[in-house]
Amino acid sequence: MRAVSVHPDVIVATSRVWQTTCTAVRAGTEAFMIDSPVYPDELEVLPTLLAQAGFPVAGLLATHGDWDHLLGRLAFPEASLGCAETTAARLAAEPGAAQRELRGFDQQHYVERERPLSLPGAQALPVPGHCALGERELDLHPADGHTQDGMAIVVPWAGVLVCGDYLSPVEIPMISPGGSLDGYLATLERLRPLVERAAAVIAGHGGALDGPRALAVLREDVAYLEALRRDGDAAPLPLARRTAEQRRIHGENVARVGG
Ligand SMILES: [Zn+2]
Repeated sequence: MRAVSVHPDVIVATSRVWQTTCTAVRAGTEAFMIDSPVYPDELEVLPTLLAQAGFPVAGLLATHGDWDHLLGRLAFPEASLGCAETTAARLAAEPGAAQRELRGFDQQHYVERERPLSLPGAQALPVPGHCALGERELDLHPADGHTQDGMAIVVPWAGVLVCGDYLSPVEIPMISPGGSLDGYLATLERLRPLVERAAAVIAGHGGALDGPRALAVLREDVAYLEALRRDGDAAPLPLARRTAEQRRIHGENVARVGG
């Protein structure tokens, strides 16, 4: 796992699998951890790593309800988890789904964990809205389309946007079950002015991008999604994301939008 500081109050750790990002944000003497890495050794070092960096984690946030972003409680078992109302509703409607998918991943990759993931009722945050952290506030913006739920988080004093599974430099836009192409495009348009003002954008997969690079990904993603709607399977993938795995994701997108 790689950990970099993108601002004195923001540390981004990137998991070895899917380049899944986990972002610690600090205001004064209190810190939140947004999303999570995936492997047990990565989760295990986080409490020490963040404590040594002066980030005392007081709570967890999740950008959306996909299992690979929900593992923070394996690192901080006593911390409460906050998420968008849409995500809280999804988690309540699919009890045990995240644990099931985590178990599937672990069995496929022979990963062993010391304890099971427990996700007691998440705290639903109003989105759009704000969330207090120490004496500061995080801005929360709706971000659905990849899935039916989610939020993007702005750290105003750091100029950082944590956007969840959008604007990834390594993964094409993924329309998951429950997501929608129109919702995805609407979220990208909602993110655009936030990206234009951001010094750093943290994508759910792929790490920290500077503003211009994130804006370039946004333009590529809009072009891809518009082509997907128009041409279905024939839509060209973004140039830097034409791997076999991204073509597989493209195939699922085509099946889902009926192109
Ligand atoms: Zn994800």
